[in-house]
Amino acid sequence: MSVLIANVALVNRPLFDTYDYRLILKGRKSAAECAYLKGARVLVPFGKSISSLAVIVSLKDHALQQSATLKEAKLLDETGLMGEDVFESVLFGARYYHYPLGQCFFTALPLALREGKSCELARVDLLMLCEDAPARLQKATGKTRIKSPAQLKLLSLLSEEAAGTLAIPVTEARDRGIPPHAITALLDKKLIRRVKSEIDYTTWQEGLKGGSVIKEQGPALNPGQAYAVERVASARGHETFLLYGITGSGKTEVYLRIIEKVLEKGKAALVLVPEIALTPQTFERFHRRFNVPVASLHSALSDRERFETYLNARYGKSAILIGTRSALFTPLPGLGLIVIDEEHDSSFKQGDGFRYHARVLARERARLCNCPLVLGSATPALESIVKAESGEYTRLDLTERAGGAAPPHLKLIDLTTEPLSQGMFCGIGTTLENAIGEETVKGNQVLLFLNRRGYSRHLVCHSCGNIFSCPHCDNLLTVHHEERVLSCHICEYRESLPHICPVCHHAELVETGFGTEQVEEFLKNRYPDVGVERIDRDTVKNRDELEARLEKIRRGQSQIVVGTQMLAKGHDFPDVTLVGIIDIDSGLYSDDFRSLEYTAQLITQVAGRAGRALKEGYVIVQSHHPDHELLYNLIERRSDYLPLVLSLLPLRQQLKLPPYGAQAFLESNSEDRDAAHAFLSTLLTGLTRESLPQGVTLSPVLSDKMEKRHNRFHFHILASGDNETSLAALLDKAVNAVKKGGIPAGVRFAIDVDPLLMI
Ligand code: ADP
Ligand code: ZN
Repeated sequence: MSVLIANVALVNRPLFDTYDYRLILKGRKSAAECAYLKGARVLVPFGKSISSLAVIVSLKDHALQQSATLKEAKLLDETGLMGEDVFESVLFGARYYHYPLGQCFFTALPLALREGKSCELARVDLLMLCEDAPARLQKATGKTRIKSPAQLKLLSLLSEEAAGTLAIPVTEARDRGIPPHAITALLDKKLIRRVKSEIDYTTWQEGLKGGSVIKEQGPALNPGQAYAVERVASARGHETFLLYGITGSGKTEVYLRIIEKVLEKGKAALVLVPEIALTPQTFERFHRRFNVPVASLHSALSDRERFETYLNARYGKSAILIGTRSALFTPLPGLGLIVIDEEHDSSFKQGDGFRYHARVLARERARLCNCPLVLGSATPALESIVKAESGEYTRLDLTERAGGAAPPHLKLIDLTTEPLSQGMFCGIGTTLENAIGEETVKGNQVLLFLNRRGYSRHLVCHSCGNIFSCPHCDNLLTVHHEERVLSCHICEYRESLPHICPVCHHAELVETGFGTEQVEEFLKNRYPDVGVERIDRDTVKNRDELEARLEKIRRGQSQIVVGTQMLAKGHDFPDVTLVGIIDIDSGLYSDDFRSLEYTAQLITQVAGRAGRALKEGYVIVQSHHPDHELLYNLIERRSDYLPLVLSLLPLRQQLKLPPYGAQAFLESNSEDRDAAHAFLSTLLTGLTRESLPQGVTLSPVLSDKMEKRHNRFHFHILASGDNETSLAALLDKAVNAVKKGGIPAGVRFAIDVDPLLMI
């Protein structure tokens, strides 16, 4: 028996400190010999709780005088759970983001492991063809014949796979676009059956038995693609690449080819994508191409499915994992590549809790695994562009559309010169209105973007001026006609649409501003025969609904599609020839220093939806400020995205804004306004009592733009530094001050390093 001292981080508590416990192990072992236990879970007595879940951070050899007073930790796992690379990345994340380590582990672990469940491999649900299915299907006639495309697709997938693996996981069927009702229907007809997988620790490499990693050859690469693939494949050890390729230039094809080379070396690949891009088309490309297990992690999975995916990956049964931001924390033995697609996408930064950016932690993980990281985008973030300019990243360019499609024409419409038509009241000027008519007559499709859902923006009483606002937030309520409600888009508070003003009791309520619902109504009346589809969070609640609607659009049932940014990326509609951006002006005059960068990204991404196939496409951008420099350069002068955003850099440099300076918010909130404010005031006084690290400045305690949200009052201090190091020194001091002074009950405190949105 040996006694060690384990330093542990408590998973379910917001504590900046870690704590020592006694750990009793069988056999004689030193701390150094037990390094494999780092990242293992333990149960420890803490405060009033007799068994709190914690993760071992480090181990020391037994020191007699200390251990007598130390309480004992009970080991739950035989080894660390997450592999050294994920474990060390989490440690790095806690340091970089100044976030409590235990809470970082909380983010990194699936729910079942946070609850203390065993991490033994679990059985998963598989689907397979019933033995008599082929014969029965052949004989089927008339009514008994299967006509549902989804059911047919599943049957064909299962007969194809029958030669190899005999069965596919239920989650894979869903990823590949088979909705749950189609699965149930085939189960009911006894054509397929559900079986539990065997518990089998065979890794994907062993399963391949030296066979080919690919099922299907890809197209011959163009020279730009071929160079990119070669360059990444020949990287020695870790290197970060910025794959800058216009929409449709074949970036995904490049990822597939690099992954092929990685798999051939017996290594695994991790692909991170924004939630919005996780479509069956994406998965299908991977499943069709590769002869290895492809797993996925995203919000449409149940907790149990996420856990199973995690375990499969951990035991080396997944060769490729495709997932959203948090998939980054999944262990993958022998990881040989990380790809982040649409690397500029803001969904890679977590907005609450452990506020990490997947790009930052992926880079650390790739460094630890000594493997390449590929960041791909048609509109890279300025942070990444600057790192490529400085040589920290290697830039690879794809400058042509791969399928031979021509880039779309862009047209800027000056709304001030358009007549005040009926359409103008919901943002559709005459030029755009006519263009929609012309394209739909030709049988083409039109996409319209407006990043505002609902019917009208606000409701105001004409008699007394009362504006309807949320009782829980400093936010005005949006009018929804279809559901007849007023709703808060921050906290989802709803009330039924009133007819009289509750203040003055007059019935003169006026709606102002417009959203997607109103645009849809106008277009349905204006073009009654062509079919109008609306895609936003009100019409689409989950992935299956989104997919069902997208499928309708692809089949050409609707010629006009109105949507929010849900529609802006990742989706390929070959018949779209016209894209209209209804309102770009709010992004031009914002007080967020990144708004011009975001606007350039939005226009470029949205434009990428037009003319994807062989039909010529064009884009109409409407603005009341057509002489704005950004619009002028991007649209009239047809400047590319890259030179355009590079021209935004001198101002950033002058003002020491990111990517030249570093920023962080020290944030507090509470239901008690004074308590939230007082906490930050005390912290600020403490920090400024001594001299600040060189090059660091602190703002006063400020209210967030929307101070009250979800009934809590939000305040912040903006900390700016010349560089990351000086800012980190200041944040260390802040954490120490908070550790010493404590956080009053009811107050929440957090640090947001490299915030993406100005609050
Ligand atoms: P991106 O990810 O940059 O938007 P994709 O990889 O999806 O681009 O490619 C766009 C389209 O071009 C896809 O339909 C893809 O199959 C096709 N494509 C990509 N590379 C080639 C190539 N070398 N030859 C022919 N078609 C290609
Ligand atoms: Zn609200």
